[in-house]
Amino acid sequence: MTALTWGMLRQLTETPAGPGDEGAVRDLIARWIQPHVQALRIDALGNLIAEKKGVVAAPMHIAVAAHMDEVALFITEIDEEGFLHMASSGGVNARTLLGKSVQVGSDRLPGVIGWLPPHHAKNSDEFTKTPDVNDLVVDIGADDAKAAKAKVKPGQRMIFDTPLRLLGPLQSLNDDDPLPAQGRISGKAFDDRMGCATLMSLLLDDALPVDITAVFTVQEEIGLRGALAAGLGLQPDVVIALEGTVCDDLPGSRHEKRFPTTRLGDGPALTQRDGMVVVHPPLLQHFLRVAAAYHIPTQFKRPNIGGTDAAGFARWLGMPTGIISTPCRYIHGPAAVAELSDFHAGVALLRASLPELASALASHSHP
Ligand SMILES: [Zn+2]
Repeated sequence: MTALTWGMLRQLTETPAGPGDEGAVRDLIARWIQPHVQALRIDALGNLIAEKKGVVAAPMHIAVAAHMDEVALFITEIDEEGFLHMASSGGVNARTLLGKSVQVGSDRLPGVIGWLPPHHAKNSDEFTKTPDVNDLVVDIGADDAKAAKAKVKPGQRMIFDTPLRLLGPLQSLNDDDPLPAQGRISGKAFDDRMGCATLMSLLLDDALPVDITAVFTVQEEIGLRGALAAGLGLQPDVVIALEGTVCDDLPGSRHEKRFPTTRLGDGPALTQRDGMVVVHPPLLQHFLRVAAAYHIPTQFKRPNIGGTDAAGFARWLGMPTGIISTPCRYIHGPAAVAELSDFHAGVALLRASLPELASALASHSHP
């Protein structure tokens, strides 16, 4: 269990933060962590960097990173009828967009992504073919271009408008309630607000074992740009990237011979290699040893899928990196689903890995 409340996770996930437009989420995180860290700064690109003192000084510079941005749409043009035309920022599949509610710009203006109803479209290509994002429009209730332009302008982000919900039992939570130990939740931007929430949990802990530098990065979804800038500036000895990662354990996969990337409820996912990096082997071995010693369930993420901020630090800057992820179904769409016990186990694994991290790395020669 962590000190994070339901209200913090709710605001963390519901607040919009497209790539390059992370200010609202950064403000929230900064406000919450400020009383618990010794230094806080924002670099020129927008990364939020916090220095946190542990019970003892770490013998090496440990950075822990999570990205604040989420996939987004942005306004390219406003047409004569007042509809907003769009492009995507990060990996979005247009099949997930039709009819969805969005929030537009920093004023979070409500809008709906338009689509033709089935009544007269079902025999047409428009009904059966996957649309192109660039052909879709957002309806903000404006009668014409003049009315729309009074409220929004090209370049502004459009983000899914999805409340955080606890799935399953009919129980409602208050904002001050602690996060339940288990249970399924749904909401937007779990990639990577689950990583941000994991990192926040370390920072809110006033008995953290060793010093860390927390890096809440920007622009991960458009090419790991924040991680690159932060890595160059900080030059840490080791980086642990935290993610909300792909989970595709859809119906039948537990029984059929199909290999999901991760499974919900099987614990945090450890990466051996993804599409962009091979995780530093001594670091992975250390995670596995700690997980066994503390009886923390873990699973391996299926290799060669995806890429994370770890690549921003490792691939260009040569830093040893590890990745710990919370499995999340339906990421990069309007509503994801995650299991809180996976999240808490990820926090526990990360925290328990810190005290011996430096000695584990020092005692291993390079593979
Ligand atoms: Zn991510």
